[in-house]
Amino acid sequence: MNLDALIPDYVRNFQAYHPSRPDHILQLEYGVPFLNRLNNNENPLGPPPAAARVIAAFTPDRASLYPNGDSYDLRQALGDRIGIAPDRFLVGNGSCDVIASVIKAFCQLGDNIITADKTFAVYEWVAEFSGIEARLVPLLGYTFDPQAILDRIDDRTKIIFVCNPNNPTGSYWKRQVLVDFLEKAGNNLIVVVDEAYREYVEDPEYPDSIDLMKRFPNLVTFRTFSKMYALAGLRVGYLAGNDDVVEVVRQTSVAYSVNVQAQQAALAAISDDHEHIIATRTMVRMAKSFMLAICDNLALDTVSGEGNYMMIKVPINDMMMYRRLMKRGMMVRTMTGFRFPGWIRITLREKSVMELFAEALQKEIKSIQSTGRTW
Ligand SMILES: *Cc1c(COP(=O)(O)O)cnc(C)c1O
Repeated sequence: MNLDALIPDYVRNFQAYHPSRPDHILQLEYGVPFLNRLNNNENPLGPPPAAARVIAAFTPDRASLYPNGDSYDLRQALGDRIGIAPDRFLVGNGSCDVIASVIKAFCQLGDNIITADKTFAVYEWVAEFSGIEARLVPLLGYTFDPQAILDRIDDRTKIIFVCNPNNPTGSYWKRQVLVDFLEKAGNNLIVVVDEAYREYVEDPEYPDSIDLMKRFPNLVTFRTFSKMYALAGLRVGYLAGNDDVVEVVRQTSVAYSVNVQAQQAALAAISDDHEHIIATRTMVRMAKSFMLAICDNLALDTVSGEGNYMMIKVPINDMMMYRRLMKRGMMVRTMTGFRFPGWIRITLREKSVMELFAEALQKEIKSIQSTGRTW
């Protein structure tokens, strides 16, 4: 079999992402009885109570029946909540699923997408393994650079992905910046704003992207239940757009991709999120100010903004730091893959875990300083 001849160049040349191994394997490897996950921006408070009840009440007989194929009830609930027609939503198996659908819907070989160089990498990955050029525009002071993105548009540009707020830097475009950008970008391409962390943002100038779709029919919003709503394990996210845009994207998405439990838990989550969002924001705010003070004390640079995460500059290679922290039961995200070598990203969590993390970090920094080793 000549496997090589079967493979398109853009698949052969693609460097696949390797997810980290399961926690139980890592615990054996690093010799620790527990692992605190600060690597994936999960919400340790768990889902809102109504969603937790739906999950707990799930009975095995329901597992044998297919879910609704297009998340009908969840889209009704989203429509009621957000105030637009249910047909303007497309629900996916996590928002990563809808990223792929949008690229498939609009891009063919020779086209390009534009995003930032230091952002959530899935836009870039899906484009590249689909044979679509990903143009990566450098951040400007840790923020998406609107003018530099506009400068890269050509007549083969189909989609621009703006991560707002940006993972991992926490920066975001306020309403006016987004509006100016949309005016200049024009109507001949799709502008996606990924709002995975929108529920963490408290600034009233943060844009209401769905409202802006009245003026900018080419605008598309991605949201997820993985972060604030703590349903990452169930995999559910969605996009919202104008009717005709969503209709096209629906053509390239697979029906039945969202499971029964995910649809019902997500529906319950939005009906019961008020206290949950307040509690989560409070937890994140406290964790951030605590960690900023710790890092300041250790003279470590940080980058943080909105979202339940922050970046820390470490005095050694980020992979080395990851291994040292793993031996103390602390799992962080190395940032070399995000093109921030020498940085780690941590999830902002409850006080007890932040204190354990701070202790581990302090010990490692002191040990590095005392040996004078910087690699
Ligand atoms: C976590 C995250 C997502 C969500 O992915 P899901 O597939 O919905 O779990 C999307 N965009 C960004 C920027 C994220 O950080």
